[in-house]
Amino acid sequence: QLRLCSALALVTGAGSGIGRAVSVRLAREGAAVAACDLDEAAASETVRLLGGRGSEEVAPCGGHAAFQADVSEAGAVRRLLEQVQACFSRPPSVVVSCAGITRDEFLLHMSEDDWDKVIAVNLKGIFLVTQAAAQLLVSSGCHASIINISSITGKVGNMGQTNYAASKAGVIGLTQTAARELGRHGIRCNSVLPGFITTPMTQKVPQKVLDKVTGMIPMGHLGDPEDVADVVAFLASEDSGYITGASVEVTGGLFM
Ligand code: NAD
Repeated sequence: QLRLCSALALVTGAGSGIGRAVSVRLAREGAAVAACDLDEAAASETVRLLGGRGSEEVAPCGGHAAFQADVSEAGAVRRLLEQVQACFSRPPSVVVSCAGITRDEFLLHMSEDDWDKVIAVNLKGIFLVTQAAAQLLVSSGCHASIINISSITGKVGNMGQTNYAASKAGVIGLTQTAARELGRHGIRCNSVLPGFITTPMTQKVPQKVLDKVTGMIPMGHLGDPEDVADVVAFLASEDSGYITGASVEVTGGLFM
């Protein structure tokens, strides 16, 4: 049984890794997907995988569509929500923020620019998307599920990632507060904390480090993007209808 037949899902960071797997999974559950990425070609490629249209053919659309936006820019996020609403004639009932970056450096050497950039995309980006979506949803009286991708690093920290860990801890607090404020409007907000997942982001991590981490994971292997997408699909669906403000770890047991 398809769980998201009448849903419209907006996915950011949809052009790669977890965001792409989430887009595929939600589409399989019956949702129409608005796939957004900074990289327009990558978002269009995701939509092609879903069997939809590229951004150049966005309107009028029935199935899925690609959108380009930088989530760290307020104007771009506002335009994104307007475009999605215009394209599908309704606000998204599922919003999944997967866009994220790393700029790793030890605290003693981290530049202000590396700090600012990661906070801008990973934390302010989620604030902007959550706020813009919530404004649209509250004014139109629609129920919805907002899912923000944090990280287990936001809970336990990680060497060389003060900026990233701070941004991901921020996402947890932001999402819990949004859950408190939006619950009475029928909008659920949850964050997902992946552990180490095999994507282009973790391809940058040295093999030595990955081997060490793998040794610490009770399940004995890194996760796949689909492992995260399965949990996102659950949180998007009514199967999780009474869950809000939760931080769900998808780590294979790492740092329990
Ligand atoms: P990825 O690099 O494969 O994908 C990230 C996507 O975000 C890319 O397509 C990129 O173009 C897009 N993006 C970057 N900046 C953007 C911006 N300003 N506006 C719009 N889109 C932008 O990474 P991933 O591993 O799939 O990570 C997805 C999310 O999961 C991130 O938030 C990441 O922090 C989080 N996460 C990943 C892991 C992991 O092990 N891979 C673990 C925990 C959390």
